[in-house]
Amino acid sequence: MEEPSATATIATALAGGVGLLALVTLVYGTILYRLGERPRMRQLCLGLLFGIGGVAAMLQSVPISPGVFLDVKAVPVALAAPFGGPLAAMLAAGMVSAARIAIGGAGTIPGVVGILVAGSVGLLLQRLVPAAEWRNSRPLFILGPVASLHSLSIFVLPWEVALPVFVDGGIPIALFTAAGILLLGTMLARERRRVDTEHMLRNAALSDPLTGLANRRAFFASIDRAVASALRHDTPVSLLMLDIDHFKQVNDSRGHDAGDAVLVSLSRLLQCSVRQSDLVARFGGEEFAILLPNAPGDGAFLLAERLRRAVRDMSIPQDGAILHVTVSIGLSTLAPDIGRADAMIKAADMALYRAQQGGRDRVCRHADAGVKRPEPVS
Ligand code: GH3
Ligand code: MG
Ligand code: MG
Repeated sequence: MEEPSATATIATALAGGVGLLALVTLVYGTILYRLGERPRMRQLCLGLLFGIGGVAAMLQSVPISPGVFLDVKAVPVALAAPFGGPLAAMLAAGMVSAARIAIGGAGTIPGVVGILVAGSVGLLLQRLVPAAEWRNSRPLFILGPVASLHSLSIFVLPWEVALPVFVDGGIPIALFTAAGILLLGTMLARERRRVDTEHMLRNAALSDPLTGLANRRAFFASIDRAVASALRHDTPVSLLMLDIDHFKQVNDSRGHDAGDAVLVSLSRLLQCSVRQSDLVARFGGEEFAILLPNAPGDGAFLLAERLRRAVRDMSIPQDGAILHVTVSIGLSTLAPDIGRADAMIKAADMALYRAQQGGRDRVCRHADAGVKRPEPVS
């Protein structure tokens, strides 16, 4: 069989390397999706990913002269900063350099210098080009050619050794590095846009656009989880259902915008008055639900009373006027006879109804036989 030409061998191996780097894209999307809320952990994992990508590229290298290899390890190293952040870039460059030193040979020093050049170019451009620009391919047309200059690092070797190596391998490595950066970078940018869109749609599906609070759908998912956890760990969980009194009158007398302003102000107040672990949701038009994990009935009642008074004392400036509203609140707590999420919601709803029937601006507990009168205000 005829031996393939040197150029064909180089082209096949380097193309294989670039193909391997494409696998990085799949894992990249998964890390962005799963660790979107944990930036440090995300950078660390992305650093590992780009580092492993670079080492894997080295395993597909073509020996060009004793101890000197051609490969596309610079591609993930250069992309690590713009697509993973500075920490990811340093980790990836460190891993790939360590692997290059472990392989050894005459090309070790130019190899490590090349890796550091590619990583530094990525870091520099990540600082110079705004983050939003990396969501499309444009900056890659600068990053690719500039990072491929890392192939000049061969000239740290004596001129008579470096020149023939550069003539044989310098041009293909520069071309494949630039093409690899463009290819993998485009795929990473596309993956990032896809994950961003998915996050945006998820947030839109779970939050209320006017108030930014969790919506009904998010609330149902949370209360199911909270009740399951409370039953498993034998901890209390309480629920407040809160309804603005005579809200229709605000809309009718002041207009819909004033009604909206009341809803927004009330949402802010509620959100600021509860613990981070509590969930405030907009349950319906002027109805809110507050889920209180780990809150026994008495504690939840005190909170409900505090909220009721805070709402009554709240001034809402609107078009030169000051608006005031009051709320009625129903409270239920997980108990043997109320052992499920839907039963808690129903019980809180019934208590809310009693609070409204009892004259509004008051809190009723599901356990109460009658209506709790608000305490007199001093
Ligand atoms: P009650 O004291 O018995 O609760 O009476 P209410 O007027 O508060 O309740 P009702 O159910 O009669 O009216 C609720 C009103 O809330 C009617 C609806 O137009 C208004 N509403 C619902 N969603 C919004 C919204 O997003 N913005 C505004 N401005 N109004 C809304
Ligand atoms: Mg209502
Ligand atoms: Mg109402």
